[in-house]
Amino acid sequence: METNNWQPKVMVVDDEESIRLAVERILTRLDCRVVTAADGQECLELLGQEGADIVLLDLKMPGMDGMEVHQRIREQDDSILVIIITGYATIETAIEAMKQGAYDFIPKPFEAEQLRIVIKRALDKLHLTRETKRLEEERRRTLFDLATEKSRTRSIVEAMPNGVMVTNSQGQVVLMNQTVREQLALDEDCEIGQSMDSYIPDQELCAFVCNLGSRDDDGQVSTYEMNMGQEVTLLVKARPIHGDDGGHLGSVVVFVDISAIRKLDRLKSEFVAKVSHELRSPLSTIHEQMAMVIQDLLEQEGLIHDQRILSRVQERTKGLINLVEDLLDLSRLEAGAAYQQVQDVHVEEILPQLVDYLWDQAKEKKQELNLSLPQGSLDPVQADAKALESVFNNVISNALKYTPEEGRVDVTLEADQPGWLTLRVADTGYGIDESEQARIFERFYRVKNEKTRFITGSGLGLPIVKGILDDLGGSIHVHSKKGEGSTFVITLPTGERGQEE
Ligand code: ADP
Repeated sequence: METNNWQPKVMVVDDEESIRLAVERILTRLDCRVVTAADGQECLELLGQEGADIVLLDLKMPGMDGMEVHQRIREQDDSILVIIITGYATIETAIEAMKQGAYDFIPKPFEAEQLRIVIKRALDKLHLTRETKRLEEERRRTLFDLATEKSRTRSIVEAMPNGVMVTNSQGQVVLMNQTVREQLALDEDCEIGQSMDSYIPDQELCAFVCNLGSRDDDGQVSTYEMNMGQEVTLLVKARPIHGDDGGHLGSVVVFVDISAIRKLDRLKSEFVAKVSHELRSPLSTIHEQMAMVIQDLLEQEGLIHDQRILSRVQERTKGLINLVEDLLDLSRLEAGAAYQQVQDVHVEEILPQLVDYLWDQAKEKKQELNLSLPQGSLDPVQADAKALESVFNNVISNALKYTPEEGRVDVTLEADQPGWLTLRVADTGYGIDESEQARIFERFYRVKNEKTRFITGSGLGLPIVKGILDDLGGSIHVHSKKGEGSTFVITLPTGERGQEE
């Protein structure tokens, strides 16, 4: 029943003032708000202004007759409970009024107790009506009526070429259209009403939709890719539904079949991989031959100019070879390289080898390259060793590349959080402006300024690094200020967990 402090309003309509006052006293004690009127006209006016839940109406009054007043009240508001007050002489009329919809009657003269009984009965009825209304409202709020609604909107949803599913705040499915039934391979007559996971095997997706209401994301569209096997991929877009009071009513989930786009993407990647592969050996040959020609020229005097041109050509060829290598890395990543040959990788063992290898590069620019490792052996990372090496190589090479001569690069490995390794690569180089820090992880994005203009690169290194780390459940972030160096922070999960994620 109701828990709020709603107070029913009763209007007493009687031409005898003593009766009005007596009734008002009794009803006030029953916790009702009481309004009084001396005749039918006043009653109708007051009702028009402020309404009432119950009207106690004397039938025999001067002026407008009680029966007529009753009629007019019914016309004004059918939900008002009218209780007829009647002398014995008018009992027939009272019965007639009941037939016309009056709720009850009480013969005059009446005892206080009689009045209380009649009023209490009416109050119970009022409470029940309000409770029923509340439940109806609640039902409407849980969105179940959506499925039974036979509106034009419903027909449109049913005919939509994209799958549509609507859930209520309890996560039950309250609407599904034909397309979603086909996409999820459900029976055509499969009933709604169950929780989402009864229809969708992907638990992660169900949790994702369920949590939408609790997220404070301003009703943004969230997306999720669901792999249905046999090269079928559905892009799931979901948005929470909020009621007028801001409460979470449920979510609308739309399923778009993106299998064709994914296939095209795969074909494109395969094409890039193939072309890169085909380009690699001729380019390497040109590069080597060029080196020989330059060497020959060096031995002949007076050909310095030609040698310079050829050196430039050789540099550009090297750039092309690096681009091709990066494209191949990217293709490998798309084919799941991070887990191609999973093994226990001891980061503290591969880092010193890599730093040794990069030492020459640092020496050429008179740079300091330091490595600091924690004591003892660390938990291994489960990954493809080559993929991990490529991550470290890219980030440390970048630090050397984007740091001027005589600069310094510090590589620090830490195992300060259980289950995680943190690698910091800090340099004293050119730094990256804050506005560009997020963009450097996008494919082909390169920061172009007076310092970096002449440094060759493809803009593919960091996207590859990020792709591998995402696959492994790790992360990469950059802290940098233009002109003041950069620190790249990589986190890697150790042990079994890496693979699960
Ligand atoms: P590439 O080095 O081949 O251009 P990356 O994807 O590795 O491509 O890096 C993207 C861009 O990020 C680089 O072009 C460079 O502008 C910037 N960058 C990366 N590492 C650093 C660093 N340590 N210091 C300054 N800028 C960097």
